[in-house]
Amino acid sequence: MSIFSKVKDKLEDLRRPGYFKKYDHKFTMVIDLDRCNGCGACVAACYAENNLPVVGKEECGKSRALNWIRIERYVEGEYPDVKVKFIPVMCQHCSKAPCETACPVYATYHNQDGLNVQVYNRCVGTFTCATYCPYDARRFNWFTYKRDKPLDEQYNPDVSVREMGIMEKGTFCIQRIRAAKDKAKDEKRALKDGDVTPACAQACPTGAMVFGDLNDPESMVSKLAKSPRRFRLLEELNTDPSVIYLKRVMKDGSGTSEE
Ligand code: SF4
Repeated sequence: MSIFSKVKDKLEDLRRPGYFKKYDHKFTMVIDLDRCNGCGACVAACYAENNLPVVGKEECGKSRALNWIRIERYVEGEYPDVKVKFIPVMCQHCSKAPCETACPVYATYHNQDGLNVQVYNRCVGTFTCATYCPYDARRFNWFTYKRDKPLDEQYNPDVSVREMGIMEKGTFCIQRIRAAKDKAKDEKRALKDGDVTPACAQACPTGAMVFGDLNDPESMVSKLAKSPRRFRLLEELNTDPSVIYLKRVMKDGSGTSEE
């Protein structure tokens, strides 16, 4: 087959309706807000796993912290009758991600696992993706942050260390997904539920975070995603996020709206 016929076939493939929707997996995270107590273990685990720099108090004051997950805190009511609520927010891996349409150099795109990925080598730091992201999930490296010895030995060798001018955001621990897929391939079997656990879900002491493949009807996330308590952040924007939250249950048994 000539190269021209191959290209023609590929173009025809691309024109097929729904081609880009046929993900091999649809990795999804379900976060039960009834279990979240705002401890921040997920934030610390994400720092350790993904080589996030600790930028210091002064830089944090300039909104330059590089955390990929943040715990949003809400206080409802008047003192002393107040209710404190927490909601962990990270990149929502939107299926219709505004950041992807924004990037002028295609440094961010959707892969076959339904993930929004970031190509660091291609990023030129225009900041456009961060402007388009309605979840404030993206972080910019204002400097090349170095770890003093012996803390440099803490670097996770499976994750690249980013330099000045690079935009970054949560990846659902793509390195763990890759390792689990490789292991399953070596063992000549399909990826099964529970094979991948991102660092945040692993560290969560209350088991509030569950990760898995929404394409697998038997996976835990598929079951939890059917909960009547489910909602997604800013759903009205039609970004189709891959993070599903479960509402808190109040004393009277009703769910509360956390949007
Ligand atoms: Fe892009 Fe923001 Fe959606 Fe993540 S949450 S996929 S950075 S638009």
